[in-house]
Amino acid sequence: MAETIFSKIINREIPAKIIYEDDFVLAFEDINAQAPLHALVIPKREIPTINDASPEDAELLGKVLLAAASIAKSQGLAERGYRLVINCNSEAGQTVFHLHCHLLGGRTMAWPPG
Ligand code: 5GP
Repeated sequence: MAETIFSKIINREIPAKIIYEDDFVLAFEDINAQAPLHALVIPKREIPTINDASPEDAELLGKVLLAAASIAKSQGLAERGYRLVINCNSEAGQTVFHLHCHLLGGRTMAWPPG
């Protein structure tokens, strides 16, 4: 499996503004922020897309979502609201093939998305 830019961030081979880390999950600011808070929450173990997740990944994926909610809460967004997005493959716009959850908040967002 080809190493992605996110593996390099996990391994501290390239810099990122890391905002959360535990044994299983890393979160850092998106380099091209689309909202006042735009973080990427990723499992440290690489899963290319959500299509590649298996039942054994259920706990890990839960940890990613819980970390995202915890970060949102710590940033004062729990009541205001925020958005979690996982893009899968080309039509959804996935560009980095290490599963990641976008955490977007701090502004009003339209629905449905474009
Ligand atoms: P995707 O389009 O795959 O769902 O999201 C990939 C995200 O990774 C994009 O929002 C993009 O801005 C972000 N990204 C790509 N390269 C880097 C990088 O080197 N550092 C950081 N912090 N974010 C990156």
